[in-house]
Amino acid sequence: MGMNIAIDGPAGAGKSTIAKRIAKKLGYIYVDTGAMYRAMALFLLREKIKPSETEKIDVKCQEADISIGYENGEQIVYLNGENVNGLIRTEEVGNMASASSPNPNVRRKLVELQQKLASDQDVVMDGRDIGTCVLPKAQVKVYLTADSRVRAERRYRELEERGVDCNLGEIEKDIIERDHQDMTREISPLRQAEDAVLIDSSHMTIEEAAEAVISLL
Ligand code: C5P
Repeated sequence: MGMNIAIDGPAGAGKSTIAKRIAKKLGYIYVDTGAMYRAMALFLLREKIKPSETEKIDVKCQEADISIGYENGEQIVYLNGENVNGLIRTEEVGNMASASSPNPNVRRKLVELQQKLASDQDVVMDGRDIGTCVLPKAQVKVYLTADSRVRAERRYRELEERGVDCNLGEIEKDIIERDHQDMTREISPLRQAEDAVLIDSSHMTIEEAAEAVISLL
């Protein structure tokens, strides 16, 4: 088994930015599991399935083949062979990902892929259930969080930089709703693993948070 660093936490806590920084510093592979749930969500949206249609999700998700590759160190997510990186970072896809991720068939498929990736290489993996379910034996486990307002402001700036028209209040509402969904679902809810270290990034820079994780190694 390679070295495994598991980072879980709510939306916008800075998991991916910090995980990428750590991966680069340590020469590990960064695995963004949210992107896999987002690719699945994109597939379901294209099939015209609504977040509330749980039975359709159950059946249709079997037709999505999700895989990942790396180009210049960046993770690429493929949906039935198509690179969908540029299509999954929208609020619509994020909300559908949160609505479809409680489905056992969706999770079984993606967790298997995640475990395979971590089995023979050094990885920093981020998500919601990495420390609790996907990599229970990870050598380092972190639960990264931040105040919901701070998280909404970060998302807002990210979207603004990409030229997307958005509203801070709505983003915060969305974030709170998504956290609630992720924390209260029956299968693999978002929660801090017993042996995970809590890091609150509300008043930390990216560099400080990355160093805090690395110091746990
Ligand atoms: O992290 P990101 O915002 O890209 O994740 C999108 C959604 O995918 C989350 O709200 C969550 O419902 C789901 N997810 C999950 N388990 C993971 C990663 C993401 O259920 N390991």
